[in-house]
Amino acid sequence: MLNDLYNPKTEAIAAIYTEAIRRYDPRRATTPIHVSFYPYVGINHTIRVRDNQIFVRIGDLCREMPIVCHRGLAFILIGKLFRRKIPAGAREAYAAYINSEAMRELTSRNKRERGRKFVNTPKGSVYDLELIFDNLNAAYFSGRIPKPVLTWSARKTYRILGHHDSHHDHIAISRSLDSPDVPRYVVDYVMFHEMLHIAHPTIHKNGRRHNHTAAFKRDEQKFAHFGPAERWIEQNVGKLKRAAKK
Ligand SMILES: [Zn+2]
Repeated sequence: MLNDLYNPKTEAIAAIYTEAIRRYDPRRATTPIHVSFYPYVGINHTIRVRDNQIFVRIGDLCREMPIVCHRGLAFILIGKLFRRKIPAGAREAYAAYINSEAMRELTSRNKRERGRKFVNTPKGSVYDLELIFDNLNAAYFSGRIPKPVLTWSARKTYRILGHHDSHHDHIAISRSLDSPDVPRYVVDYVMFHEMLHIAHPTIHKNGRRHNHTAAFKRDEQKFAHFGPAERWIEQNVGKLKRAAKK
């Protein structure tokens, strides 16, 4: 932990990106912008446009970056996106953090730790979540679901097989399912369910949250192997539980 004071929330960071957009191109000032942190190994960030919205993923290593350095990074990324000249000082503001002693220490510690632990990538030993997501997105959503961070869970959970975290724009699928004993349509089904959570955002009514609305459930049944997938899970939960305890 470097210093909690320097841990700006993603909303505050998003506001800086909006400022950068306005500065480069006032006509695009109202473009919705989504900022999230992503578990990239090393220092890496991405920016892309989808459905007239801008998605920024900032490498996890910059979670504790001071806001002035985020400002520099915002002007660099938006400038690159719009193919514009990066204003003076932006690169320096960002580089000040990247080249700092604290950051160097964090980078080397991160590399050491990731060498030891699971590398949290969407590619499992059997199934590739990126591929599964892309195929489902094309088959059922006309490719309209913006891709969240996709990871296998660190542990083999068996009660919860998938989880969508809208705040962090993240879908985790239980590592229990990354096995040759699990049919592909089961992994597809669990992913499909989590994708429906993106297509049908939580509704707040009378102070209650509704996740699995009637519309959600109707769409869920459109999955080609809905019945068999439900049955397989029902019949194999014991097996998954035993595998999780090994
Ligand atoms: Zn659900």
